[in-house]
Amino acid sequence: DGDWVNPLELKDIFIAVKTTRKYHKSRLDLLFQTWVSKAKEQTFIFTDGEDQELRRRAGANVINTNCSAAHTRQALCCKMSVEYDKFIESQRKWFCHMDDDNYVIVPSLLKLLSSYHHTQDVYLGRPSLDHPIEAAERVKSDGSVSVKFWFATGGAGFCISRGLALKMSPWASLGNFISTAEKIRLPDDCTMGYIIEALLEVTLTHTHLFHSHLENLQRLPTDTVLEQVTLSYGGFENRRNVISIGGAFSLVEDPSRFKTVHCLLYPETDWCPSKGHH
Ligand code: UDP
Ligand code: MN
Repeated sequence: DGDWVNPLELKDIFIAVKTTRKYHKSRLDLLFQTWVSKAKEQTFIFTDGEDQELRRRAGANVINTNCSAAHTRQALCCKMSVEYDKFIESQRKWFCHMDDDNYVIVPSLLKLLSSYHHTQDVYLGRPSLDHPIEAAERVKSDGSVSVKFWFATGGAGFCISRGLALKMSPWASLGNFISTAEKIRLPDDCTMGYIIEALLEVTLTHTHLFHSHLENLQRLPTDTVLEQVTLSYGGFENRRNVISIGGAFSLVEDPSRFKTVHCLLYPETDWCPSKGHH
């Protein structure tokens, strides 16, 4: 249970958002307009190209990773490795990774993390598959044996306690994350799971409050949307995979549904339509 004498505060959380230069306009703008505005000091943008406008908007909370802008394992693991190092440096209690197509329901995130302790080993997220992944053990042994482990899907966001993050250091800090990923030849989110479950023997706490567009988002019951921790939306190929929620904006005005969710959570926001009485 959480510490009621010393409750978790927003400033204790480090939220890393992974992005890339070409999505600064099309994806990040929407995040700044919505949930990031509720967690400005907590949110750090990890990107791969300098952008004056973004710099003006978020200042030191923008981290240019100098990682390549390619969608390759190396480039994505390079960003995750910088996210990890910046979190360790930050001295905060919780590390949460998000993609730039996630909406974070900030009060729900705070509530969820409040029920755990940052000094314990906590790895929270949505399992990518309904079974553990199997991979050749190439870090502790020569690859002749295999290991099974769960991992949290990066596209839904996941969180790690400081206590656990510190233990990951030999395989995650200062570029070690990239070499670990190269050894097992798996993507960044799998590599996280591998370090935590296979090497440290800490289990993933499965939560269904985190959502990626790999699932059918339309199936999420409308009356539970505001209690979730993260949301997402189908990309270019899957425009119709969005949460079903009605409100202020049509599907054309708000294809991701993020503005609609934001106005339901924070109706006082200046760009949200006021409910009559002019
Ligand atoms: N991304 C990146 N570099 C790229 C392409 C994507 O850092 O070259 C990031 C993107 O900003 C997002 C995440 O990787 O945070 C996942 O990308 P996307 O949503 O496009 O693909 P998905 O894997 O979810 O289908
Ligand atoms: Mn995505």
